[in-house]
Amino acid sequence: MIIVLRPEVTESEVKRIRDRMMALGCQVNEYQSQNYRILGLLGDTSRIDPGLISGNRNVDKIIHVNEPYKKANRLFHPEDTIIRVGDRTIGGKDLAIIAGPCSVEGEDQITSIAREVKKAGAGFLRGGAFKPRTSPYSFQGIGEEALAYLKRAREETGLPIVSELMSVRMLDIFVREVDIIQVGSRNMQNFELLKELGRVDKPILLKRGLSSTIEEFLMAAEYIMAEGNGKVVLCERGIRTFEPYTRNTLDLSAVPVIKRKSHLPIIVDPSHATGAWWLVEPLAKAAIAAGADGLLLEVHNDPANALCDGNQSIKPERFANLMNSIREIARLEGRC
Ligand code: PEP
Ligand code: MN
Repeated sequence: MIIVLRPEVTESEVKRIRDRMMALGCQVNEYQSQNYRILGLLGDTSRIDPGLISGNRNVDKIIHVNEPYKKANRLFHPEDTIIRVGDRTIGGKDLAIIAGPCSVEGEDQITSIAREVKKAGAGFLRGGAFKPRTSPYSFQGIGEEALAYLKRAREETGLPIVSELMSVRMLDIFVREVDIIQVGSRNMQNFELLKELGRVDKPILLKRGLSSTIEEFLMAAEYIMAEGNGKVVLCERGIRTFEPYTRNTLDLSAVPVIKRKSHLPIIVDPSHATGAWWLVEPLAKAAIAAGADGLLLEVHNDPANALCDGNQSIKPERFANLMNSIREIARLEGRC
């Protein structure tokens, strides 16, 4: 339930309503901006007599939130959430372009790719240290050593680093070493992991589950937010359908749907969505035209010999060309 207050409401009156709701067992989240003053109620609101609140002259209206996600709901936070990562932002006017190899393979590899993507205009560097592979016999990532290489690449380029966390066991190390913690598709409903991530002060890049609905996706974000961490960036990376010509089916409609339903930033990963390097460019452009707040792109200097996801990786030169087109589309969309 949302209580929208009149702009002229006094602090003491807000406190009075707040205390009353809390006494009835609700958790109260306050949201205030230039245009809104809102109390978002969580918990069992059935004990609240709606007549009592609507009769209050400081209350503009009451909105019942039908969706199961509350903190992630735009009704709870009408303005877009902008997440700060160092001196960069995700969710504002600027596009967040996260680029880099599927896996960190060595120090030279990651630093040279970092230099190239930075030069072309990327804002963040990605690189997997621990890889969630379908086969236990496939390359599993080089582990903690990769985090050290990523940090060196960050020192050299200034690009904040993004890497996937697969186990709660590694949480403290990730909180210390990386700038954005990625939760991969396969862990989107690892609720214990999500709860732990809700207790840290670090941006989380949450990828949509392999076969999850948009509502399940937003509920996964809600798990993190419910524990107190509101810094969640959503990432549409394609879902499993009957179509075998692409690795997954990129659900671009998820972008405007999520923009309407939630205030959280949403970026698109056309690399994992398609599984093919030649499909990355058209879908990256389409994602920005559809209103995505950024892109996650796999870039590799030698895709033919990449240890993971070479087929869908683009070379740095292609990435640089794509960035030029993206800038044009972003300009048409009123973004920088
Ligand atoms: C990745 O980003 O490297 C990855 C494994 O992605 P996803 O979880 O979307 O498959
Ligand atoms: Mn990959």
